[in-house]
Amino acid sequence: MPTTTRIYNFSAGPAVLPLPALEEAQRDLISLPGVGMSVMEISHRSKTFEDLLNRAIEDVRALADIPAHYKILMLQGGATLQFSMVPMNLLGAGASADYIDTGSWSDKAIKEARKVGKVSVAASTKADSYTRIPAQQELKLTPGAAYAHITSNNTIEGTEWKSPPEVGDAPLVADTSSDIFSGPIDVSRFGLIYAGAQKNLGPSGVTLVVVREDLLARSSDALPIMLNYKVQAENNSLYNTPNTFGIYVLGLTVKWLRSLGGLPAIARINQRKAGKLYAEIDRTGFYRGTAQKDSRSLMNVTFRLATEELERMFVEDSTAAGFDGLKGHRAVGGMRASIYNAFPEEGVDALVDFMSEFERKRG
Ligand SMILES: *Cc1c(COP(=O)(O)O)cnc(C)c1O
Repeated sequence: MPTTTRIYNFSAGPAVLPLPALEEAQRDLISLPGVGMSVMEISHRSKTFEDLLNRAIEDVRALADIPAHYKILMLQGGATLQFSMVPMNLLGAGASADYIDTGSWSDKAIKEARKVGKVSVAASTKADSYTRIPAQQELKLTPGAAYAHITSNNTIEGTEWKSPPEVGDAPLVADTSSDIFSGPIDVSRFGLIYAGAQKNLGPSGVTLVVVREDLLARSSDALPIMLNYKVQAENNSLYNTPNTFGIYVLGLTVKWLRSLGGLPAIARINQRKAGKLYAEIDRTGFYRGTAQKDSRSLMNVTFRLATEELERMFVEDSTAAGFDGLKGHRAVGGMRASIYNAFPEEGVDALVDFMSEFERKRG
């Protein structure tokens, strides 16, 4: 196949990027217009880069209507480092944090937070194999908790919160790595949100953190400097050299989202894409969605077939048909179609056709 042909990439992350963003990065890779150097070759202290960083930040702010009293940071270390940074900065000595355990990533966040301080699991759906999001009345919240943490979309299990829970006075912290900006988000409901960029925002190596300004007062000067939100905010994420290229591509991706019509527009597209796929899964009993219906993710669509042998054939045939990344996470098995913002609707249509054909042939 010609090297420029792009296949349908269902990878859970790093994942498909918008073609217009890749094309612009390609066009300007050797020399940024008017600069004569690649974005990878210029100082992070240059006006060119600072403008580019600030434009990316302002585009993120405009896209999600983020109020002025929230700081927007572009850090490194992935969402996984946030599992540590959140408690290191927000969980004071003697305090306790509430975590809601809805999947493998929540579980990892809990394990890291426990190394830092006291954690209470306010609810867990582990006993139901993480096939659902808990109801509000299941939450056992701790009065006076330093914060409450959720995973807004469970990438591996294919479930998502349809709206954030009520957690009283505790600032709500959300790991939004796999559904950030997939639809409107009321940032004022949160104290802090974070997301590794490589699913819905750009390439790996950049982590978006949006933090309410008043929470920065909790960051102790005793923290390692790179792990201190206050220092990162005071330095506009330029305390040291950031991932300049990653921030550039994140900026192009956010610009693309804005050009589509912003979050309400992408939400409609995502609803339609996921709707088509779940309709095919539910059409007969041949495929079985693994998430409970009211908890189904619009980003990671997980399903199984009757036997592992059929699943093996599905992966094999789908790969031969030019689809990539449909094998589910090794921890849960089955199939997973990750259809993030940048995943084209034609690819969903093609998968639906493939699925009906596979059922006709093998059912
Ligand atoms: C992928 C993912 C992570 C891990 O992200 P890294 O950037 O690799 O650290 C954490 N949480 C969720 C919900 C994810 O989907």
